[in-house]
Amino acid sequence: MNQDKLLKKLFTFIDESPTAFHAVMNLEKILDKEGFTRLEEKDSWEIVKGGKYYVNRNGSALIAFTIPEKDPAGYHMVAAHSDSPCFKLKESPEITVDDAYLKLNVEKYGGMILSTWLDRPLSVAGRVVLKGKDGILTKLVNANRDIALIPNLAIHINKDINKGVEYNPQTDMQPMIGESSAKGNLFKLLAKEAGVEEKEILGTDLFLYNRDQCRLVGIDDAFIAGPRLDDLECVYAGLTAMVNETPKKYINLCAVFDNEEVGSTTKQGAASTFLQDVLFRICAKLGKGGEEYRRMLADSFLISADNAHALHPNHPEKADVTNRPVLNGGIVIKYHGSQRYATDAYSAAVMKDICNRAGVPFQSYANRSDIIGGSTLGNISTAQVSVNTVDIGLAQLAMHSACETAGAKDVGYLTEALRVFYRQ
Ligand code: ZN
Repeated sequence: MNQDKLLKKLFTFIDESPTAFHAVMNLEKILDKEGFTRLEEKDSWEIVKGGKYYVNRNGSALIAFTIPEKDPAGYHMVAAHSDSPCFKLKESPEITVDDAYLKLNVEKYGGMILSTWLDRPLSVAGRVVLKGKDGILTKLVNANRDIALIPNLAIHINKDINKGVEYNPQTDMQPMIGESSAKGNLFKLLAKEAGVEEKEILGTDLFLYNRDQCRLVGIDDAFIAGPRLDDLECVYAGLTAMVNETPKKYINLCAVFDNEEVGSTTKQGAASTFLQDVLFRICAKLGKGGEEYRRMLADSFLISADNAHALHPNHPEKADVTNRPVLNGGIVIKYHGSQRYATDAYSAAVMKDICNRAGVPFQSYANRSDIIGGSTLGNISTAQVSVNTVDIGLAQLAMHSACETAGAKDVGYLTEALRVFYRQ
């Protein structure tokens, strides 16, 4: 696919995925269109050779897989994450100020750069849960217009604002959503959006999101800027690569986990049994027992795809001395001496061979030895499913900003490399 077409599709996917729930819903639309069968975890599964399937957990995590016609040797897997740092609405969130303004009581979800959320139009999206005729049911909602804004203090009132400010999430980061007379309107709007009565709503997971759309940036259109690039770029590349390849020797699988930004230890996170449960059930349904399951794992490979820090134009000194990935420099293979990244010499060699065969560039990332850095999916997931794993990502700037920047060429490189991986 040419780059313009790929980026257009990626931008639409990210723009229409303000929360992990929406990202998974949009992935399901792709899978449904491609003829995948939806499996429910509570049902008995029927899995046949040559079949294409997906499983959803919690509405915010998803595992899709395709089975080869011949007996599979193992699993070829890509993992990425659906969530991004943002603000979550607390219960009873409405607060009035001096009988003039209405604001929302929110708390941090993950570790974001707080200042980037100031002075930009925001909206609210997520899920509402209610009692339906046949039990508890979930509906996705998206206010989908500019309804909130977190205003900075003026420089005249906060003279030191350009000297570095410590933002207090409880006092500085609460968004204004209208005049005090608008009290109650948000939940009316969300109920209308869900097509239910407000009083029917029994639970909510609602988040603020940045209304910016993804776009090309640079005199040469070399970069892309937008919200949630970490990790929806890798999610999109992983899933579309998988649906476009026919499995041969291995079961191809793409896992999209939720809650990476808050440590992955939820039932739908990378530390959960979700992946293990699905792998085991696939084996069982193909008539394979415990020993064959473990034999298959020994011949499996996981590419954990989560964005990486690029060399910063204003702070080159923050990058490692010899491992300095750049935007548009290709797939970043991540290394960490203490194994916070799962990459080792073997898995790096496998990944480089894949890149070489795909004809795409690769580069390496390591933290400076005096910076701790972040964590990702690979080593968390391998605690449950122990297979050879490489941690990779696409180079980006301003990770966890409300608006992140990445290279326009890199998502195409990743898609090509993952297609080669899934083609094996
Ligand atoms: Zn990430």
